[in-house]
Amino acid sequence: MKLNEAINLAKQVIKFSYSPYSKIRVSAVLITKDGKMYHGVNIENASYGLTICAERVAIFKAISEGKRDFLAMIIYSPDVLPFPCGACRQVMAEFFSPDTKIIIIRENREGKEKVILKFDDLFPSKYSFKIKRN
Ligand code: ZN
Repeated sequence: MKLNEAINLAKQVIKFSYSPYSKIRVSAVLITKDGKMYHGVNIENASYGLTICAERVAIFKAISEGKRDFLAMIIYSPDVLPFPCGACRQVMAEFFSPDTKIIIIRENREGKEKVILKFDDLFPSKYSFKIKRN
């Protein structure tokens, strides 16, 4: 897995975060099973509810290019330890497998924190509306 490459990409693209309201910059990099990487940043809006998180930007970019199989997601911020919000967890539940790795990193000049979880541990009780077909 291209983990270090993905972490470096997350740090590179953090400059694209559009976060004038919260001042919290977040980037996400999704790694597909075929080795591709899709990145996103948080994009805020003056009408706060229209803001979209970095994780969903990355997921929607990958899905819209036909990707469905994901190995891992890096979520990076220099400002906070960026655990994903409930909306992002639910979007992840649609596409991630229970063992998709979630790597959450806060890193800046003062130090570094890193949390590594399986998606199922991050979000064990998922809303699901999957219809069983025989
Ligand atoms: Zn979110």
